[in-house]
Amino acid sequence: MVGIKFFKPVLDFLFPEHCLVCEQPLISGEKHICSFCINHLPFTELDFDRNNPVAQRLKKFFPVYKATSLMFYHSEGSSGKLIQDLKYHNRPEIGEVLAFYLAPKLATDPPGIIIPIPLHKKKLKIRGYNQLEKFGKKLARLLQATYRDDVLIKTSHTESQTRKSPVDRWKNVKETFRIGNISDLENKHILLVDDVLTTGATLSAAASVIYENLPRARISVAVMAFKKD
Ligand SMILES: [Zn+2]
Repeated sequence: MVGIKFFKPVLDFLFPEHCLVCEQPLISGEKHICSFCINHLPFTELDFDRNNPVAQRLKKFFPVYKATSLMFYHSEGSSGKLIQDLKYHNRPEIGEVLAFYLAPKLATDPPGIIIPIPLHKKKLKIRGYNQLEKFGKKLARLLQATYRDDVLIKTSHTESQTRKSPVDRWKNVKETFRIGNISDLENKHILLVDDVLTTGATLSAAASVIYENLPRARISVAVMAFKKD
């Protein structure tokens, strides 16, 4: 794969870009996702505010300022495919595409700081990238915010959480973040970003670590996809 960058113009000519969802070749005017798939993605239409179902779920844990999600999450559907490819099939650029569609919602009350949920360094080494990095950086560019991956640090590798109750999951993840560099966060609108929101326990654990150090922090949340109850 070393030489693939060098030959990219040739490859693009021989093999035009394919839709990230249905994998059919894109036609002229289409970018990343074909028009059929764009029209069928489960976009939430939820504004970036404090009362929508995303915010309600998080409020069980912490006083989130505003929240939103780009899509609803269906593991067998197009949103599931995009996120699984992003996380497990070496397609970090999908994050940039999703950021492009999410940014207009956040522009109604843009954050100053964007913080990704960190990966443990062992996991980072295995995957090779944090799936939120391109997503968060692209959002930061589009919203003129600062991307900060030095604020939260993942401290331990958590075991699979699927069989635990929500309370156990919350306790378990709470111990897995610690604070890193908190300079220049005072009085800023902070946006935590993650891929899929399920119970909200991970995002809440991350928020609580920030609150411990900045009790008056204004923390919002944006995710790629939201799993309905
Ligand atoms: Zn398609």
